Amino acid sequence: ITSWAHVPQGPPDAILGITDAYRKDDHPKKMNLGVGAYRDDNGKPYVLNSVRKAEQLILQDKLDKEYLAITGLASFTKEAVLLAYGKDSEPLKEGRISVTQSISGTGALRIGGVFLNRFYPHNKKIFVPIPTWGNHGAVFKDSGLEVGQYRYYDKSTNGLDFKGFVEDIQNAPENSIFLLHACAHNPTGVDPRPNQWDQISEIIKERKHFAFFDMAYQGFASGDADRDSYAIRKFVSDGHKICLSQSFAKNMGLYGERAGAFSIISGSPKEKEAVDSQLKILIRPMYSNPPLNGARIASYVLSNPELKKEWLGEVKLMADRIITMRDLLKKHLVEDFKSKHNWNHITDQIGMFCYTGLKPEQVERLTKEFHVYLTKDGRISIAGITSHNVEYLANAIHEVTR
Ligand code: PLP
Repeated sequence: ITSWAHVPQGPPDAILGITDAYRKDDHPKKMNLGVGAYRDDNGKPYVLNSVRKAEQLILQDKLDKEYLAITGLASFTKEAVLLAYGKDSEPLKEGRISVTQSISGTGALRIGGVFLNRFYPHNKKIFVPIPTWGNHGAVFKDSGLEVGQYRYYDKSTNGLDFKGFVEDIQNAPENSIFLLHACAHNPTGVDPRPNQWDQISEIIKERKHFAFFDMAYQGFASGDADRDSYAIRKFVSDGHKICLSQSFAKNMGLYGERAGAFSIISGSPKEKEAVDSQLKILIRPMYSNPPLNGARIASYVLSNPELKKEWLGEVKLMADRIITMRDLLKKHLVEDFKSKHNWNHITDQIGMFCYTGLKPEQVERLTKEFHVYLTKDGRISIAGITSHNVEYLANAIHEVTR
């Protein structure tokens, strides 16, 4: 009889563990800054109006629930690439971009990882930033790729280590794969500036590296979806044949619906056809075809000019609320509590997360004494702060950093 006694107990997921501990805490001022999901100014999950309207239209249209194609809903993937690459994109106009729907951003990364493992003609090693989203290493390792790292974050400035970043791109063997966060880098909130992206694109090209973009937050960084795809569009116009993972979890609030897309640029429409065929071959044995509902909602929002306009406005509202919370947090720390530390990085960083620079023992005190829950690396989700608790948080951070 088979036994599983040899299966070792694995460690719990770091972020889900924080949520558990938060749930068990009954302190009235408790705050959960661990989870990477948007909350409104009352700390509640937020369903976008544009999404609610799309759902109503879908109900009215009484659509069926037949299987999607292996590569998903075409009306969705068409809009997804348009949103990322822009209507003037050369490879888009020339029919050189393969795209498939994916199980949100994670699934897109996995499809990309498996595709590269099968077909990347050079060393199958992908370099990810230090630090990066906790799942990147596991996704690429489980896809069969080797995972390396490049310098990205400078602890001494809480900003970008541009020099280290560039050196590591230059020193990696030619034809390496580089995973780049397109915008709103998770967990640091630190993005290269446009002129730095220009240089990165140039050096990656010189070294013949391949760029794999992960865009989980389009619109969330600046509030403007076009502006947030600057890096992608720059790389593409510089002639890079990139691949891209897109997620609609955050910017459309479709977290559990799992709506995403993976795309990759080929040199010609003929090449693209072959790539398309291989994407189908690798997806079919994994899950046959993707879930329908989230992609349908996103396609309704993106292809209806009125709904799309409303959605872009809502993305901007979410981004603006985050920016306001950054301003308030810094203001309370500096002006009200007269903290002696430099907190400029709170407002210099961008997107949902702030890398506070708090040390593990300070994080521990925040949780134990102030009931504020966050990851050990000092990352806070700004989306979990509200105008009602920002002062409480500033005071707590001030107390543990005195
Ligand atoms: N990539 C990054 C950088 C992320 O932060 C996330 C989510 O937190 C994802 C990808 C994937 O998210 P999802 O699979 O929910 O779309």
